[in-house]
Amino acid sequence: MEDQEKVIQIAGAITVDELANELGLSVTSLIGELFKQGIVATINQRIDFDTASLMIDELGISGVRLEKKNTSTKTSEIHHELSDHAVLRPPVVAVMGHVDHGKTTLLDTLLNKKTVEAEAGGITQHISAYQLEHEGRKITFLDTPGHEAFAAIRQHGAMLTDIVVIVVAADDGVKPQTVEAIKFAQSANAKIIVAINKIDREGADIPRTMADLSQHGLQPEEWGGDITMVPISAKRGDNLDKLLDMILLTADIEELKADVDIPAEGLVIESHMEVGKGSVVNLLVTGGELKTGEFIVAGSTYGKVRTMLDFRGKPKGKATPSTPVTITGFKELPNFGDQFIEAPDEKTARKQALINAQGNSDALASSNVTSTDLLRMMNVADNSKVFNVIVKGDVLGSVTSVVDSLKMIDTHGEVTLNIVSTGVGDVTENDVYMAAGDNTVIYGFNVNVPTNISKMAARDGVAVRNYRVIYELLDDAKASMEDLLDAEIVEEEVGEMKIKGVFRTERSAIIAGGEVLTGKVAAKIVSPTGAGADLQVFGRVYRKKELIGEVEVDSVQKEKMAVSELVAGETGGIAFKLEKRLVIELDDRVKFFTREMRKKKL
Ligand code: GDP
Repeated sequence: MEDQEKVIQIAGAITVDELANELGLSVTSLIGELFKQGIVATINQRIDFDTASLMIDELGISGVRLEKKNTSTKTSEIHHELSDHAVLRPPVVAVMGHVDHGKTTLLDTLLNKKTVEAEAGGITQHISAYQLEHEGRKITFLDTPGHEAFAAIRQHGAMLTDIVVIVVAADDGVKPQTVEAIKFAQSANAKIIVAINKIDREGADIPRTMADLSQHGLQPEEWGGDITMVPISAKRGDNLDKLLDMILLTADIEELKADVDIPAEGLVIESHMEVGKGSVVNLLVTGGELKTGEFIVAGSTYGKVRTMLDFRGKPKGKATPSTPVTITGFKELPNFGDQFIEAPDEKTARKQALINAQGNSDALASSNVTSTDLLRMMNVADNSKVFNVIVKGDVLGSVTSVVDSLKMIDTHGEVTLNIVSTGVGDVTENDVYMAAGDNTVIYGFNVNVPTNISKMAARDGVAVRNYRVIYELLDDAKASMEDLLDAEIVEEEVGEMKIKGVFRTERSAIIAGGEVLTGKVAAKIVSPTGAGADLQVFGRVYRKKELIGEVEVDSVQKEKMAVSELVAGETGGIAFKLEKRLVIELDDRVKFFTREMRKKKL
């Protein structure tokens, strides 16, 4: 682009329009480019700093640097380069996989096995992160429950997760949520380790599971690939040490580090109110050391760390990077995924929270707009010309061919096809969740739509359409896209007449006679599209080449008898209705036509 780096300053937020201006792009081309990246934005949409940066990255624009205005200590700036004296930190691991493949069992078994020192009664409340010890080293595990949390974690996943352990049951193989987990891990840039679970089961087939995984892009090390796969039994505890070894090995290779001599910082991973305690917030420290008594800011709220407990509920005075803790002391509840940062004193903390609140309200009425929100905003966005689809197919090949064929539908640039997501397997709750509220169609191809899912979709007003024949699916998509096109006015020629006599001229009517030169003349004509009522016939009156005015055909006569039409070669009389006063003269020509609003066709 430019030789010199261009700096764009963003205070709280910037509109798409302003950003386009700054980038020297036309708004439509910026919006168009964003569409291609799966981000639907409108011209006046306000986007925050992070989203703007993301857009610039996604668009591959170089030579431009974004800078925040007047927000020197804004919490979202906490991702700095590591210093030379950064220290190793425990890996942060998320366990994901298809339902019933054993995620909970794996976490429970690990927890029981590895946290022997846990007090009697063990863990009493649900916590979103645990820390285990293996070979004298710590490993932090994140619990990733329901879909909403999953979607939220996806937003922040890149920062939150170093390693994703994908649990696959050896007797069931790769399933839709397995694929989802793989996609998540890849999009979050996390390292993947596969735990092939339930190897104690009779139907367990490790090689087949591996083959299944390699079909989905995960090549086992045993077969020359780069994905570590550990066969385990979460229930019996087989091979769990090996799994932990592999996690630590991966962490070593990744050289996961953090600075400790900086103000404490991290992420909010859960928050709720408790009677008597006020806000109870789970944090994951990612840098510095958090201590009780310190002031912290997260988004638009702040507080003093009053109490701090480790995941077992034991008081903790100091939390180092990768440590999950539960604290009280926030004035108000921060949001999941908010970044927190230590402030030197209460005054600074309060001021910073205010600045953040200001920034947020600048960015959008209530909260930060993230790229995920942007995607969600498709429903608010005044853009009826985007056709959002989610494609689910029985096998990868069918998904690919459906998607490819959808892309081939040519809308002359009038409708943008936005593939929200694709996947192998039945239509799931998550698909409906992703589609909810949006103008989105979920296409199933040779899959099942479980009854509870179709009910949920019906409730949420999400269209789920299942097909077994690809052409039918494509016809449906084409028709849906045609529905998005603006209707257009179509005029069709009917005939032409030469005026041979004018019998009466009034303010709003003229009766004249003439000869039909081509086509025919009638007052009404059946619509060629076969739709709706008959069409009114209009005429444009020309004198020599000049257009004099427009008339409407009221009735047609032949030899003083009313007729429905006169055809070429015939002579007769016409009663015209006038909108505007007009004089028709001898030798004028009237060109007759119909006018119809028609849906455009693709
Ligand atoms: P999640 O939905 O992925 O959390 O799966 P769960 O951990 O709830 O496990 C689902 C079912 O599989 C439970 O009945 C577990 O007891 C069982 N299960 C989990 N791991 C194993 C295993 O290694 N072997 C056997 N035989 N059963 C297992």
